Amino acid sequence: MKKITILVPCYNEEMNLPLLYPELVKLMDENRAYEWELLFVNDGSHDGTLERLYEMRHQDPRVNIVSLSRNFGKEVAMLVGFDYAKGDCMVIVDADLQDPPSLIPEMIHWWEQGYDDVYAKRKSRGKESWLRKRLSLMFYRMLQQSSRFDMLKNVGDFRLLDRRCINALRRMRESERYTKGMFSWIGFKKKEIEFDRGNRQVGKSSWSYRQLFSLAIDGITSFSSAPLRISTIAGFFISMLAFIYMMVVFVRALFWGNPVQGYPSLLVFILFLGGIQLLSIGIIGEYIGRIYNESKHRPDYIVDEYNEEKVS
Ligand code: UDP
Ligand code: MG
Repeated sequence: MKKITILVPCYNEEMNLPLLYPELVKLMDENRAYEWELLFVNDGSHDGTLERLYEMRHQDPRVNIVSLSRNFGKEVAMLVGFDYAKGDCMVIVDADLQDPPSLIPEMIHWWEQGYDDVYAKRKSRGKESWLRKRLSLMFYRMLQQSSRFDMLKNVGDFRLLDRRCINALRRMRESERYTKGMFSWIGFKKKEIEFDRGNRQVGKSSWSYRQLFSLAIDGITSFSSAPLRISTIAGFFISMLAFIYMMVVFVRALFWGNPVQGYPSLLVFILFLGGIQLLSIGIIGEYIGRIYNESKHRPDYIVDEYNEEKVS
């Protein structure tokens, strides 16, 4: 019998778990042709999430729980899931019921047809602020243009991955993770299905604007070196303009003399160039920071407990 793992990363989801679990049970009951594993990754929650999970495990041996030693973020929590999943395929589901489990049978259907990566594309983004929608659209467009392979718009982490995809993803151990990009990077046979993304059941999205911004920077810098090129190109054009202007100044001084003038324009140029230089250094710094982090070769995460047993 084929085994399917449902991976749920959880960070402070004690209110959502009692709503999610019955949905998953319903799904598993309706699809008894498969063996199921519910793999919950407790990402250092501060509330009763872990207790809720253990209660579930006591009633249901299909539940497996990895508890991390602190909050590592969803990207890392998913890597933990890739490492611990036992299934022949895996479906990643958010704990807040924004990803309807009712879509999973359709995903399995396509998996059985030979697709390795069945992902759900949002028709609507649910209730999100206008600014948030705008920003995320802008980000996707930027990323699309700056990298060499398809980055998908309006596609989240809700997807079914074949064992081959999981194994490929497990080999990608970078510390600054942008998993959405990795799904595209590994390739394999992909299938898109559409759905309406609901609203978060309980609680707030734990992504603040600042976190989203830093995820965006991670996304761009880990999948493209285009920003580094921007400074080269800008530098080239500015030097060209400066050269032309130099000739103008030279010829003017030669034929019409050189009355001291142009203090404001001088200041503007200096400030402008200074700004560009700082920006370029900042961009380089982003990459160097990543090289630094990567070169430390730290483990990607620390597990505290697996199924109530302390991991040493
Ligand atoms: N999550 C996590 N670690 C974090 C933040 C979030 O494991 O540091 C989980 C969270 O519990 C949820 C999923 O990631 O299951 C998506 O989180 P959220 O709903 O906050 O994000 P959004 O739906 O806005 O993308
Ligand atoms: Mg959510």
